[in-house]
Amino acid sequence: MSQQAELRELQAALRTASDVAFDQEPPAGEQAAVLVDALRRALTAAQALTEGPGETGCREHPRGAVDPLHGDPEDPLPPGWGRCLLCNDRRRRASTRRRQAR
Ligand SMILES: [Zn+2]
Repeated sequence: MSQQAELRELQAALRTASDVAFDQEPPAGEQAAVLVDALRRALTAAQALTEGPGETGCREHPRGAVDPLHGDPEDPLPPGWGRCLLCNDRRRRASTRRRQAR
């Protein structure tokens, strides 16, 4: 989900939660369950916002791991490789296969 979508989800969930929490009657039973569900959704959306658009800069795996070798001066990555560990692993496997084929 995009940051905008996460924010809208967060706002919608918080609105639901406060509607229930500030109702005339204290929430109980089904209403309390709705409140818990809304707060859980709000928390998930808020956590997604704190993570930002992703460290990898990868469109396919924005929340993936960053390759620990990225920026390593002793063992630099081949030119054109990004920060995404998942994509770099795929490139590594592909180049290993090419080497074995020879
Ligand atoms: Zn990737």
